Amino acid sequence: MNHDAAVSNAKQIADRVLSPAARQNDKEGRFSVEAVEALGPAGLLGLMLPTELGGAALGPRTFAAVLEALAEADASVAMVYLMHICATATIAAARAGATVKPTLGEIAAGRHLSTLAFSEAGSRSHFWAPVSRARRNGAGVYLNARKSWVTSAGHAQSYVVSSLAPEGKGPTDSTLYLVAAGARGLSIAGPWDGLGLRANASAPMSLEDCEVPGSQQLTDDGAGFQAMLQVVLPLFNLGSAAVSLGLCRAAVAGTATHLKTARFEHLGQSLGESLPTLRAQLATMQIETDGLAARLDDLAGHLERPRDTTMLRVLECKAAAGDAAIAVTSTAMRVCGGAAFSRHMSVERVFRDAHAGAVMAPTGDVLREFIAKAVLGMPLF
Ligand SMILES: Cc1cc2nc3c(=O)[nH]c(=O)nc-3n(C[C@H](O)[C@H](O)[C@H](O)COP(=O)(O)OP(=O)(O)OC[C@H]3O[C@@H](n4cnc5c(N)ncnc54)[C@H](O)[C@@H]3O)c2cc1C
Repeated sequence: MNHDAAVSNAKQIADRVLSPAARQNDKEGRFSVEAVEALGPAGLLGLMLPTELGGAALGPRTFAAVLEALAEADASVAMVYLMHICATATIAAARAGATVKPTLGEIAAGRHLSTLAFSEAGSRSHFWAPVSRARRNGAGVYLNARKSWVTSAGHAQSYVVSSLAPEGKGPTDSTLYLVAAGARGLSIAGPWDGLGLRANASAPMSLEDCEVPGSQQLTDDGAGFQAMLQVVLPLFNLGSAAVSLGLCRAAVAGTATHLKTARFEHLGQSLGESLPTLRAQLATMQIETDGLAARLDDLAGHLERPRDTTMLRVLECKAAAGDAAIAVTSTAMRVCGGAAFSRHMSVERVFRDAHAGAVMAPTGDVLREFIAKAVLGMPLF
């Protein structure tokens, strides 16, 4: 599979599976099992895995384009996919000696969904500082943790879980573990009833004396933090920005359709024909959307050919994307007026979904902290 085939597969799934069900799944807060069942056979779950493991060995640019297509139809599914690809990359980067080949084989075969369980109730959005601590159990550990939000909770086949290393000294001395969905002591700890991304099952999970064998320890003791920063953060921020871009495009398309079809019958004109102010606002939305697309293109280039400015771009892109998505979808709400407010159109769902980007860690505020500290030459942590 090449870039074009992957994006075309994603677009077909978006049209055939995601678009028809997005509204109802959002209303019911229902996880789209059908979407995951379609992504697997299309070869998209193993998108970035090497070919020797059965993956498509495609890069960040394709990952972002696939996400944009999915998010334009249903951002909840796109977020499920984003978390899966981040978890898969972490599993694929496991230390020597970890037994991860069977899991990666299942992912490449399209039969295994994974996700990240980082955020904890105790440290909230500061995912790099888990407050839970693993306890030694021979070569393995026991995990006890209160994970506050886990996308695909109860639907994934595995979870990449962070916890402080048993002998970790500082707040970022974490270790990452691969925990199977059926592991004893792992459970969903509450419902998911979000304002947006309602169909992605981002429920809290608890781990109680959950036994993880040494073979499922993904990083060395205390090396979880480096994996979060080097493996997860670039992909997560790129992917989160791609989801924001998909949402912006959905808002522009929905608004344009409304301006063409809603009419002032007494004037004999569509809204778009009648009101320059609505056209000006649509133009602003389009400018923001294309600006975000350019940012994503730039970040994909930096990830393909890393250089000094790469980490700064990683931080900037998600911060800018979260703001752009909120701005574009807010304008869409105003332009579409009562029709959007009364939920007659998908612009309202897109507006709610767009607000998750800035809240998901690293949040827009935290990213600004990091960016400014980097510019000032201050340590980030
Ligand atoms: C839909 C959804 C899905 C999610 N899925 C996952 C998942 O799969 N896995 C996972 O691990 N987590 C997940 N999360 C959790 C997410 O990444 C964040 O950890 C969580 O949303 C932050 O919660 P909080 O607002 O309570 O954090 P808080 O830390 O309480 O933040 C509150 C406010 O303070 C600001 N703030 C915090 N620290 C600073 C700082 N240092 N400087 C400036 N401002 C600051 C924040 O920006 C925010 O505005 C998900 C969250 C959502 C909403």
